Amino acid sequence: MPKVVVLPGDGIGKEIIPEAVKVLKVVLKDRANDFAFEEYTIGGEAIDQTGKALPEETLEACKEADAILLGAVGGPKWDYLPASERPELASLLPLRKALGFYANIRPVKMLPCLLEASTLKPEVVAPVDMVVLRELTGGLYFGKRGRLENPNSAFDSMVYSEEEVYRIVRLAFEIAQNRRKKVCSVDKANVLETSRFWREIAIEVSKDYPEVELTHMYVDNAAMQLVRYPAQFDVIVTENMFGDILTDLASMLGGSIGMLASASMNGSKGLYEPAHGSAPDIAGQNVANPLATILSAAMMLKNTFGMYEEATSIEQAVEKVLLDGYRTRDLAKPGDKVLGTREMGDAVVEALQK
Ligand code: NAD
Repeated sequence: MPKVVVLPGDGIGKEIIPEAVKVLKVVLKDRANDFAFEEYTIGGEAIDQTGKALPEETLEACKEADAILLGAVGGPKWDYLPASERPELASLLPLRKALGFYANIRPVKMLPCLLEASTLKPEVVAPVDMVVLRELTGGLYFGKRGRLENPNSAFDSMVYSEEEVYRIVRLAFEIAQNRRKKVCSVDKANVLETSRFWREIAIEVSKDYPEVELTHMYVDNAAMQLVRYPAQFDVIVTENMFGDILTDLASMLGGSIGMLASASMNGSKGLYEPAHGSAPDIAGQNVANPLATILSAAMMLKNTFGMYEEATSIEQAVEKVLLDGYRTRDLAKPGDKVLGTREMGDAVVEALQK
């Protein structure tokens, strides 16, 4: 039986995850009973209950699962803890590492009906339709770091193995093959040795995909191009820290952070979560936008279970609800029909059933 581990986490995670599960059960229809949805604790709540942000039981369940659906973790209640014990660092990084989720995939697409929600000019963001691929388990965030006494200093090291670069770049080409056949590899090859290494491998991999165009861009230029002319990008692939920064920047091209889904993959196994955090400022008020989580659930059906039709049905239902003028508060302008979190979930369900 396919197993989905459900991790609501903290803050609005507890409100948006039930909406995504509700939508999944409706789209799966009779097959919903063939799936095991098992809920576990993670993050701040897990610290309160067990003393650990990623309890052994949760990690084991995730290892056995086909897919994981996560809300968000963290909040001011746990901010007093040392950085390494806080929910974000002590649960998400070890979970990604333990399950080898090396590829973070974040599709960024502007829906025409949300043009006005963007802070950028409509003519700049209207044609945006790209996928940003971030390497997730190597580079600066996992390299050796430390403090030295003489001279008093600190260091972080960026290390990439050949295999780590090959697999993420190859995935970028595979994704591009089914899109507009363009890969932009983002690096800092004018300065960094890891970037020159990365670039050599990207060129090597590209030989297996003659129909896909490969370009290279320095990360500083990429940041500028993402706001200047984002429509030029189809698939961007980049290392961990560059990707961390660029994906947040790119998220604003889709209108609202409440719309952005993501998948972290290792083969067909994936961790699916919205791009945003636990939003403590609005938690418990039934105002959070559940659509990023619902769209993450659609990515799960596609990437892990190969259920393309059902995934497309969810995407179309989300688009229909927005086209009908329904908005959560983060997307609304005066005069819009504003729905709460639960009501937005219900609206997607209703659109699916039509
Ligand atoms: P955040 O993404 O939680 O919130 C940023 C802003 O966006 C807030 O004003 C929030 O109200 C709004 N927002 C976010 N999601 C929304 C949604 N679905 N609908 C409507 N509005 C939404 O980022 P933050 O405030 O920097 O972080 C809050 C907590 O979340 C922190 O503890 C942080 O460490 C954690 N965090 C967790 C993850 C994760 O679990 N993957 C990611 C980022 C931040």
